[in-house]
Amino acid sequence: MPEKDLNALFVDTLKDIYYAEKQIYKSLPKMAKAAQSDELRDAFDKHHDETEGHIERLEKVFELVGKPARGKKCDAIEGILEEGKEVMEEYEDTSALDAGLLAAAQAVEHYEISRYGTLKTWADKLGLKDAVKLLDQTLAEEKKTDDTLSKIATTAVNAEAA
Ligand code: FE
Ligand code: FE
Repeated sequence: MPEKDLNALFVDTLKDIYYAEKQIYKSLPKMAKAAQSDELRDAFDKHHDETEGHIERLEKVFELVGKPARGKKCDAIEGILEEGKEVMEEYEDTSALDAGLLAAAQAVEHYEISRYGTLKTWADKLGLKDAVKLLDQTLAEEKKTDDTLSKIATTAVNAEAA
């Protein structure tokens, strides 16, 4: 594949995750508000702050490739967040609500991990060293968040739901 094509694909995928991060940024406070356990609410609040940083890092990557920071509607994240909304509505005031919120949030993190992993590999191929660093920093935070959510799931929340 010629470098030019991979470059276009890289920018397209940047737009996809930029859109996704902005939607996630809007959703996390709603998920925090819905969460019953303090631990889960704190995890959502913390990741809300981190997500602001993810958006800023993406804006730096756009700058590095000389493109305006613009999102492109990402149907995948729309669907994942829509499912999270359904859980909040259908399991409101039940003991399974937090388990459902955790599952929805982990689906979001896994989507992000997949995107950032791909972008990092492509940035490396394209010789964009500074972009690799920025994408890797965010990737590490997404993985750490996923780990935290896994721990909360196995300790508190699922026990309560059962
Ligand atoms: Fe993120
Ligand atoms: Fe995330």
